[in-house]
Formats: sequence, C-alpha cells, structure tokens
Amino acid sequence: MVAKKDPFISACATLERGEAGRTGDWRAKRPIIDLSKCTPCKKQKDTCYLCWLYCPDGTINRGIPVEIDLEYCKGCGICAQVCPAKAITMEDEEDLLLKECAILNETEAGGEES
Ligand code: SF4
Ligand code: SF4
Repeated sequence: MVAKKDPFISACATLERGEAGRTGDWRAKRPIIDLSKCTPCKKQKDTCYLCWLYCPDGTINRGIPVEIDLEYCKGCGICAQVCPAKAITMEDEEDLLLKECAILNETEAGGEES
C-alpha cells in the first residue's frame, strides 16, 4: 500500500520533539496562542501551521487546536514572528509563574475554608 503524501511536508527531514532537550519552565518567555485568531481554529480546517513548520524544537502540534508542548519550548519566539495572524504573543515566564502560583494559593485557601 502506498502511504498518503503529507501535504505539509515537502522536505525529507522530520524533526523530533525537543531536539534541543527538555526545557521545563526555565525559558524567559512563553508563547501564548490566542485561538480566536489562529487560522486552523477559526476556519476549522488544516491550514497555515507556519508555527509548526518553523519551530526549531518540533514542540508545536499540527492540529485543531494548535498546541505547544511547554516541556520542550525554548521561548525563542520564532513561532510568534512567523504567525501571519499575529495569534501568538510572547509573555514573560516569571510573571506567568507568579500568577499561576497566586491562583493555586487562592484555590487552596478557598478549599481550606469550606
Ligand atoms: S517559542 Fe515557539 S518556535 Fe520557539 S521553541 Fe517555543 S514553540 Fe517553538
Ligand atoms: S502560525 Fe499562527 S495562525 Fe498559523 S497555525 Fe500557528 S498560531 Fe495558528
């Protein structure tokens, strides 16, 4: 049986997820996708995926919705640069971690009161 040709792959190289190692949360910037602007989500159609194509770490999935595996993302910002819909913004990782901790603490405090 002949394998179906992938319309998004014209070169022969396939990137492995996390080519440059596991990142965890040490990146300085975190990419955030606004799915209301992301073309595949808006059109509910396999299209664009330029962020997936250019991510040097292969950490973006090509699907609906487009998702980024932050365990491997280096925060380089290439995805945000190439996104034609300006759907990706690079946010400060430390600010986001502090906000997430504050939300977690509030949730735990709320749970203890009840
Ligand atoms: S910032 Fe974007 S392009 Fe860079 S590693 Fe993370 S997901 Fe990939
Ligand atoms: S490049 Fe932008 S519009 Fe295209 S799939 Fe990625 S996030 Fe969505």
